[in-house]
Amino acid sequence: MSQLFNEAKRRLKDAAKHLEVDPDLLEKLKYPKETLSASLLVRMDDGSRRSFKAWRCRYDDTRGPTKGGIRFHPNVNLDEVMTLAFWMAFKCAIVNLPFGGAKGGVAVDTSTLSKHEYERLARAYVKAFSGFIGPDRDIPAPDMYANEMVMGWMADEYSAIVGQPSPAVITGKPIELGGSLGRNDATGRGGYYVLRHLESVLGLSAEKTKVIVQGFGNVGFHVAHLLRNDGFKIVGLSDSRGAIYDPDGLDPLDVMQHKQDTGSVMGARTYGKAQELTNADLLEQECDVLIPAAMEHQITSENAPNVKAKVILELANGPISPGGDKNLYERGIVVIPDILANAGGVTVSYFEWVQNKAGFYWELEDIHARLRRRLEPEAIRLWNLSNEKGIDMRTSAYMMALERLNAAVAAHGTRAYFCS
Ligand code: NAD
Repeated sequence: MSQLFNEAKRRLKDAAKHLEVDPDLLEKLKYPKETLSASLLVRMDDGSRRSFKAWRCRYDDTRGPTKGGIRFHPNVNLDEVMTLAFWMAFKCAIVNLPFGGAKGGVAVDTSTLSKHEYERLARAYVKAFSGFIGPDRDIPAPDMYANEMVMGWMADEYSAIVGQPSPAVITGKPIELGGSLGRNDATGRGGYYVLRHLESVLGLSAEKTKVIVQGFGNVGFHVAHLLRNDGFKIVGLSDSRGAIYDPDGLDPLDVMQHKQDTGSVMGARTYGKAQELTNADLLEQECDVLIPAAMEHQITSENAPNVKAKVILELANGPISPGGDKNLYERGIVVIPDILANAGGVTVSYFEWVQNKAGFYWELEDIHARLRRRLEPEAIRLWNLSNEKGIDMRTSAYMMALERLNAAVAAHGTRAYFCS
């Protein structure tokens, strides 16, 4: 087993120390329930065939069918997919969704594919994993470099294989194909609800708060846009090509327009004189709230001492290494952990799945209200638990999720029940 996965399990052990967790549960969570690897052979536009490595991991289904996105990224690998699947089990538990955790991945740089090639690749993924996924078994969704159209292709392919429309097999679909209103901005919006709900205990106020967002994609754009609308000052943004920073602020809508026109945030108009920086430098600039919304391991023991933010809202999965966490905690920097901060996406995915199963579709206001009701009470519970126990919010978040997983395992009967 390799680094990322071992780190995730170490965090689980740390949380388990503070709770009475049944050994049956820890044994169950040691390894993924099942993992499937495949090679996707795709016909390219020039007539050649190319193989892409792909994975799907169902980590744990104690609390229901497994749920988790599919990541399209050149560096994706089995270790990463397994770790992301593990985190999904905890994410679904912390917001009390009736799901277990899963994840998928395809090792590909999608920018090198034509639209036709991308569609063939997405359909090939479903062909390879059609026996593994399913509306009551394992329900994928988008992750990095996948959008709603890709989810639509995948749902269509699955429906053709099983011989009937099966929209509930995948979430994050276009509205016209059974997607949910409010899914597109759900992850950014969920992070925004969590931050605003904890604002007073964190000692923040919108007008005085400067925000940096690393990773200006779906999640990064929406959180930046929502916060700016409420008066927060967005001072830095980045994408894979680099970063812009302006203490006078910038408008995420302008920057998104520029990114759509040119392919990058670099060179976008800001309110003052923008500096162009690397992604690594951006993380170390002056701000009150830092929002990593790109990749894992962006803040480690090496650069954590240089982070100046007071609060980090983790919208990417696993952006801080355990060494980075330790340094930030010792310096009093509050980290609102990914498994709660970015749970808005899977929560509205759950709403989409419920709507697909019921064949009854909800209004946008209803989606927003339900999302708020899921996240806000857990956010304040998390804050209180962390303060009562005198431990960091990440360990507290794992504790909250473990309690729910533990209750589900105990409901089947454990050693204590059978041997008493
Ligand atoms: P996306 O593909 O829409 O955007 C990713 C952005 O990150 C792009 O702008 C890309 O240029 C940028 N990027 C890539 N590598 C980078 C790097 N090294 N430094 C800085 N920026 C970089 O993806 P997304 O859906 O916004 O997902 C972003 C993160 O949020 C991922 O970690 C994902 O797992 C997590 N997440 C997404 C969702 C969701 O619903 N989309 C839900 C939960 C968690």
